[in-house]
Amino acid sequence: MKVPAISFVIPSYNEERNIHGICEAIKDEMRIYPELDYEILFIDDGSSDGTLATIERLSFQCPRVKFVSFTRNFGKEAAIFAGLQNARGDAVIMMDADLQHPPELIHELIKGYREGYHQVVAKRDRKGDSKARSFMSSLYYKMVNKAIDVKLTDGEGDFRLLSRKAVNSLLELTEGHRFSKGLYAWIGLERKTISYENVPRQEGETKWSIGKLLNYGIDGIVAFNSKPLRLCFYLGALILLLSLGYISWTFVQIIKHGVDVPGYFTLISAVLFLGGIQLVSLGIIGEYIGRIYNETKKRPHYLVKVSNVNVEPETSTLH
Ligand code: UDP
Ligand code: MG
Repeated sequence: MKVPAISFVIPSYNEERNIHGICEAIKDEMRIYPELDYEILFIDDGSSDGTLATIERLSFQCPRVKFVSFTRNFGKEAAIFAGLQNARGDAVIMMDADLQHPPELIHELIKGYREGYHQVVAKRDRKGDSKARSFMSSLYYKMVNKAIDVKLTDGEGDFRLLSRKAVNSLLELTEGHRFSKGLYAWIGLERKTISYENVPRQEGETKWSIGKLLNYGIDGIVAFNSKPLRLCFYLGALILLLSLGYISWTFVQIIKHGVDVPGYFTLISAVLFLGGIQLVSLGIIGEYIGRIYNETKKRPHYLVKVSNVNVEPETSTLH
């Protein structure tokens, strides 16, 4: 089987109305590179609409179209992982199905690749995003970059080109809880960044709810080191010192002047405050234990329902 120069990896979850659009857009852009063979690999992340049927139909018409379909929705991170595992190209270009990643940037990505970069990253601005969301995310990135060992940049997502070396490095990281943004940074390698203006989604709707975003945010912090655990320790130690100071001071006062006010307020606030700190700490510890538990199960990242990746084009047409 011939190895394509470029594999486009498209995670797709309930994107039946976008599949054709993204496929045509890629073909249009790739027309000017007759020397570059490419494949378009859709990862159907357990869609409940006609996404899989649409992709299958496309693959019958066009042998470039490959797909892997999951048994259920395993999430975008699993879809990306499956894409990297199944892509055969010398380079991988990762794109969303909803045309929010402008296909005309493919040229810039390929240019960067030809200049010898292992990662060419398309960075988006926050045009069109609500003020609240932009503010929250810039705050989040400031916080996270203080807490973790790799550097994450606002606006840099999954839209990027990865060389074969970068893909293989990412595949070596097999942790259960994947946080790709961090993994891209973790592998290092020479990288180039290009910028583009944010575009609204064409069809369908975003799969990110506030709850999902929040969970993703926590993943970003916890997946990369154990600093939060240490923070708990320091916070606990500080509180302990402060309360010891306060207790000795009050004790001296009582010895000197006797008890004047019953001190109900101080008592209750101390109890509440300490209770709060303890709960937070327990939560953080629980987070890590949960991860250890998940990692020890060593479950696969996803299960495949159907795929045509290892099927020769001739056998994939209806006879
Ligand atoms: N996606 C996926 N699995 C999921 C959620 C999303 O494969 O569980 C895909 C989705 O089909 C799209 C990409 O990930 O191609 C980005 O999703 P979305 O557009 O909802 O995210 P946003 O652009 O709003 O950040
Ligand atoms: Mg989108």
